[in-house]
Amino acid sequence: MSFAKIPKSDQLIQINYTPPQTSWMETPVDFRPGTWSYSGVAKNLTYLDLPNPRAWQPADVDWKLPENWQAIILEGMKERLEKYRSFRLFMDVCVRCGACADKCHFYIGTGDPKNMPVLRAELLRSVYRRYFTTTGKLFGKLAGARDLTIDVLKEWFYYFYQCTECRRCSVFCPYGIDQAEITMMGRELLNLVGCNINWVIEPAANCFRTGNHLGIQPGGVKDMLEFMADDIFDRTGVRVDVPINKKGADILFVTPSGDYFADPGTYTCMGYMMLFHEIGLNYTFSTYASEGGNFGLFTSHEMVKRLNAKIYAEAKRLGVKWILGGECGHMWRVIHQYMDTMNGPAEYLSEPVSPITGTRFENAKSTKMVHIAEFTADLIQKGKLKLDPRRNDHLKITYHDSCNPARAMGLLEEPRFIIQNACNHFYEMAEDTIREKTLCCGAGAGLGNDENMETRMRGGMPRAMAVKQVKEKHGVNRLACICAIDRATLTSLMDYWVPGVKVMGVHELLANALIMKGEKERTTDLRGETLIK
Ligand code: SF4
Ligand code: SF4
Repeated sequence: MSFAKIPKSDQLIQINYTPPQTSWMETPVDFRPGTWSYSGVAKNLTYLDLPNPRAWQPADVDWKLPENWQAIILEGMKERLEKYRSFRLFMDVCVRCGACADKCHFYIGTGDPKNMPVLRAELLRSVYRRYFTTTGKLFGKLAGARDLTIDVLKEWFYYFYQCTECRRCSVFCPYGIDQAEITMMGRELLNLVGCNINWVIEPAANCFRTGNHLGIQPGGVKDMLEFMADDIFDRTGVRVDVPINKKGADILFVTPSGDYFADPGTYTCMGYMMLFHEIGLNYTFSTYASEGGNFGLFTSHEMVKRLNAKIYAEAKRLGVKWILGGECGHMWRVIHQYMDTMNGPAEYLSEPVSPITGTRFENAKSTKMVHIAEFTADLIQKGKLKLDPRRNDHLKITYHDSCNPARAMGLLEEPRFIIQNACNHFYEMAEDTIREKTLCCGAGAGLGNDENMETRMRGGMPRAMAVKQVKEKHGVNRLACICAIDRATLTSLMDYWVPGVKVMGVHELLANALIMKGEKERTTDLRGETLIK
């Protein structure tokens, strides 16, 4: 299939915020090319034991649903209302104050009122009221209730796959209503009748099959890591080890497969390898747990659990003490917010203690998994690394707080501490676009595909405008972040809105500055760009 051409950026920025003439319930969804993602391919659904595998596309009139699809969804909704108190609460408590309305990057970028978080939630709430509340059953539309029709289902699909589950809206809601949780429920219900997108389902299926989203076999993982070790040798003159599936290592290191297989993630991965070599860490990669990302988060709670279990099963099999996790976004939401009650507590692992500094990571007492930014910031703070920030003098850096580490973990200071120690030119973006108020890349939660490019560019526009501001003011040419999806999606976003700004991981920046024992004089950074003398 060919992808829809997207308008040029000066046209796309002309956003029409005038609401449609018709009320929201009477405004049908328009599956315009460039604004939605292709459906899950049947073989991937079959592989994951998901219902209703078939050939279909969202723009088709007939979605080939099971005959009793309404009953399946309403039964699924009932089960989830009973099981998840948060879901029931979020269906009941919104007071429609509107504080969240203009906080979603998809609303800002599209002007579509159904992308206001309050209205996105209403898509599901209206059905909840109709079938699960007395007023809704009695008064129907007057009570904000509506029947579950095929048009409603199509609307769910369109708008729940135009939400990146970034949780920015929840920061501004006086009741803490978390639209990401509502979107997750919406997607979960859609999955019950086989309505999902391939950009989510295929990585999840690949993860089961070979251990990682891209479906790379163990030999391929090993080859890539060894290629990176060769590149490190070329740049630094230091030969680093590539420990893989090493039983009895102290630490299992898990990172998203985007770090092994795609630029610019590979430079971040080289950064981890250089760091671990320099401090003499007894660690291992794994070809079984060769993926930190968890696309279950964009599918269903059951799928989150199934995928996350692999990491912990591998830690147990290898007999490591604890797990260190790389620069990933949603992996950390899973670990930080769900792991403990879903797969944990991981009592067969030890409470993480840095073998280099002796620091006890009490925050990881239960999950036994430490974020690389915490680990590295601790090394710097305890004086265990020699850094020459001048080696990054050709770069002017700004930092994008990736939604999940920032909002789901509160990991705000550690990456900044590393950046400030590794470079001399760091510039923050506007205050209301960073830290817990950070703006999404516009393509997380499985939306980073090419067919959905117009929505991605619209949704990412507010983030891009904040980068543009620091580019114009300070000459910023690099956007650092700690998420593999962001590294991929922000690259397209910058090329479209702010050409000249490249994207990098924080550990790439660190590795440029890292002085290694026995290294040769460095003349280039990890990308081969010439250093300023
Ligand atoms: S979670 Fe993010 S993408 Fe979804 S409605 Fe809220 S702000 Fe928008
Ligand atoms: S801010 Fe919260 S309470 Fe107010 S409209 Fe949005 S979701 Fe409802």
